[in-house]
Amino acid sequence: MRRSAALVSIVLAASTLWACGGAITAASQDRTAEARRMVDSQLRGRGVRDERVLAAMLKVPRHRYVPREMQRSAYADSALPIGYGQTISQPYIVAFMTEALKIEPSDVVLEIGTGSGYQAAILGELAREVYTIEIVPELAERARRTLEAEGYRNVHVRAGDGYKGWPEQAPFPKIMVTAAPEEVPPALVEQLAVGGTMILPVGPRMGDQELRILTKGEKGIMTERSLPVRFVPMVKPPSGPEP
Ligand code: SAH
Repeated sequence: MRRSAALVSIVLAASTLWACGGAITAASQDRTAEARRMVDSQLRGRGVRDERVLAAMLKVPRHRYVPREMQRSAYADSALPIGYGQTISQPYIVAFMTEALKIEPSDVVLEIGTGSGYQAAILGELAREVYTIEIVPELAERARRTLEAEGYRNVHVRAGDGYKGWPEQAPFPKIMVTAAPEEVPPALVEQLAVGGTMILPVGPRMGDQELRILTKGEKGIMTERSLPVRFVPMVKPPSGPEP
C-alpha cells in the first residue's frame, strides 16, 4: 500500500517536471523569437550594422533584467520601468550607444548608471572588463546578483556616485554614461584614456538632451553631437563631509 502511494507520487513528480520542462522550453523559444524580431526590426531596420553588437543583443536575454511584471514587454520598442523611478533603456538606444563606442575585445569599459545591469551585460559580451557604477544601492545589488547568475565574471558593479568615476581602474579607453548630467562630468573626461571615446546624454532634467560622442586626442577633446534623447537625470548625491 505504502509502496504504491510512493510510486504514484514519483510518477506525479516526474510528469510535473516534464510539464514544466515543456513550458520552459516553449517560453524560451518565444523569447528567442522575440529577440530575433527585436534585432531585425528595431536594430538592423534602423541602421545598426556592427555584427558583434547585433550578436550580443540577440544573445543577452533582456527579460531576465526586468522585473517579473515587465517581462512580457521586455523586447518591446521602448524603455521600461525597473523600480526606484529608474528605467532600462530602449533596445535601439542600447545598440546605438554600444555601436558608437566601437568596442574592441581588449577594451576596459566604464559605465555610469548600472540600473538593471542589461547594458553592462551587453558591454560584458564585447569588452575584456566592465566597471559599472550605480547610485541606488538596491539597484546595484540587484544588478550584481543578476549579472552573477548570468555568468558575467568580467562585469564589476559598485554602488556609488558616478560623477567621481572609478579612479583606481582609470584610464578607460571607453566610457558610457546612461543617465543625463547637465554638463559633461570633468572626472570622467579625466579618466578617459588618450585615444579613447566616451558617449553620454547631456541636457536639462526634464528638457531636451542630446547624445554626445567625445574623443580624447593628444591636443584635447573633440565633440560630436548625435541623437536627441531623453534619459533619467544623473543625480548628485546630497553633499556631506568628504571622507
Ligand atoms: N544602463 C541601465 C539603465 C540606466 S537608467 C540599464 O541597462 O538598465 C540610469 C541609471 O543611472 C539609474 O539606475 C540611476 O539610478 C543611475 N544614476 C543616476 N545618477 C547616478 C550617479 N550620479 N551615479 C551613478 N548612477 C547614477
